[in-house]
Amino acid sequence: MIQLTDLSFGYRKQPPLFNGLNLSLGAGHIYGLLGKNGSGKTTLLKNMVGLRYPTAGRAMMGGLDTAKRYPDVLSQVFFLPEEPYIPDHTAKTFLETTSPFYPAFDRELFNGYLAAFEVPEQQVLTKLSLGQQKKFMIAFALACRTKLLVMDEPTNGLDIPSKAQFRKVLASAVDEDCCIVLSTHQVRDLDHLIDSVIILHDGTIKLQVQLDQLTERIRFGRVSGGATSILYGEETFDGTHAILPNPEGISSKPDLELLFNATVNDSGMLLNYLAEEGKL
Ligand code: ADP
Repeated sequence: MIQLTDLSFGYRKQPPLFNGLNLSLGAGHIYGLLGKNGSGKTTLLKNMVGLRYPTAGRAMMGGLDTAKRYPDVLSQVFFLPEEPYIPDHTAKTFLETTSPFYPAFDRELFNGYLAAFEVPEQQVLTKLSLGQQKKFMIAFALACRTKLLVMDEPTNGLDIPSKAQFRKVLASAVDEDCCIVLSTHQVRDLDHLIDSVIILHDGTIKLQVQLDQLTERIRFGRVSGGATSILYGEETFDGTHAILPNPEGISSKPDLELLFNATVNDSGMLLNYLAEEGKL
């Protein structure tokens, strides 16, 4: 679906953020792009969708360079920024002026998403609360049914019930022809939502993996006492939350926060283990 090849980018008068970065994303997946604040998630996503231009290398979608901004590509890509621009329009006017750019836009789906989010349809958009505005734009983004949907920090600004609504709506919107990329620094917000994780750190992709494949190879669990085979662990009041090798193939629920911390803070034990031949 989308390939970033040897992609380099830096803002003017600043050291490069990425140097020869490679990433390949396929249809039928929901990817979670994780990284600390300032690690370059937004910049990477903008390079992906043709809103920033790589200084070297390229981002290709369906064989076309996204930086060239061909209409055929633009109509199949939706990028929802962390703080979307909200025009002073009613929903009706917004749909009339914006949806024609997206040939697969589905009005019925949109109405359904809006109802699920409990966002009133008749209001002028700027009169909605910030959370409602964000939910309106998420509903629109999903209803455009583009092949690539990129949402930058979609859960920022949503209250707890809205985050649950977001999970439900997104799960219902997944389609095997579509690739969804969600970025966040709030790792837990993506629990139960993504099937693949991408961890961006120090300008490189430290880890890209499908969670079901990952949990065949490693196990997340609580251990106490002298467990020796821990790949990464964090002490808490109720024992050590740990990542362990999984030769027995015991199923466990991935702890994204632990995985993230193990990837960016650790000496590299987990990554070395996963990089061993046949582990990933
Ligand atoms: P993230 O989304 O992971 O928080 P960003 O991609 O927003 O990270 O930012 C990565 C780095 O690039 C930060 O140090 C940020 O200050 C810098 N940056 C972002 N946008 C600009 C810009 N328009 N001009 C210059 N520097 C920028």
